[in-house]
Amino acid sequence: MAQIINGKEVSQSVRDKIRRKCEELVGKTGLRPGLAVILVGEDPASQIYVRNKKKACEEVGFLSREYRLGGETSEEELLELIDSLNADPRIHGILVQLPVPKHIDDKKVIARIDPKKDVDAFSFENVGRIMTGEFDFVPCTPAGIMELLAAYDIDPAGKHAVVIGRSNIVGKPMAMLLLHKNATVTICHSRTQNLKEICRQADILVAAVGKARFVTEDMVKEGAVVIDVGMNRDEKGLCGDVDFDAVEKKASFITPVPGGVGPMTITLLLQNTLTSARKAANIK
Ligand code: NAP
Repeated sequence: MAQIINGKEVSQSVRDKIRRKCEELVGKTGLRPGLAVILVGEDPASQIYVRNKKKACEEVGFLSREYRLGGETSEEELLELIDSLNADPRIHGILVQLPVPKHIDDKKVIARIDPKKDVDAFSFENVGRIMTGEFDFVPCTPAGIMELLAAYDIDPAGKHAVVIGRSNIVGKPMAMLLLHKNATVTICHSRTQNLKEICRQADILVAAVGKARFVTEDMVKEGAVVIDVGMNRDEKGLCGDVDFDAVEKKASFITPVPGGVGPMTITLLLQNTLTSARKAANIK
């Protein structure tokens, strides 16, 4: 039976550390880390994410600013707001909640955010830095997974890690972070042949597919570490990409959904904002 990786617990302990470091920074320099979150339109899921981010900021003592813009906001207006936040010394992180309405080009929006304040690490500069390993900001979900592995003393070095999914937000940066930790990495996607056989070779299996219970017990090697990124809704509510009940019997470690990877994502956003503020204050 697998040991459950408790994302809530790890997330809380990282947030406690962030709160202490925030107090330390304010005490030493008077600078309080500030995060600006911009939401355009009325997407219900996005509204929940934005509310949770604000709450998390308050919990660790950050300045939090929320900009809720109407769905009819023009691209130019959004870019102007980003310019003003780029120039605001009280703001160290800028996040535009995606997706934005169709008449706005999200690539242009991301490119306009000062890379030093791009705490989602989506800009070309920050993506490039992740490739070379010289990064300050790490994409929040994959970075949260690396924190979880470290918290449970799971060292990826020399292990075969298989990542299912190649999105820019999860799959690709996940593979890169595992590679930086010396795993041998295979990335799978919808055109991969022999997916089951490849997954069965994984010492660490990361599922970022977006399909409920996609990873079945016969795709998992005995003793594998199974990380479930999926957030899907079915008739019972929230569920992951892994058939948890069956896979739990075979894996050595497994993340549940909810309570596994999910709680770490916002925590790493806070971590990136703190890093940005410390850099602005010239503290390493
Ligand atoms: P995405 O952009 O839709 O990417 C899904 C990936 O899965 C694609 O690369 C796709 O391959 C691959 N895929 C789809 N069907 C497949 C199949 N039959 N066999 C193998 N690969 C297949 O999704 P995402 O943004 O990476 O998110 C993935 C999941 O993680 C979603 O459930 C999302 O809600 C969740 N998520 C959770 C968090 C969190 O904080 N917990 C954060 C972000 C995302 P192709 O590239 O070939 O199409």
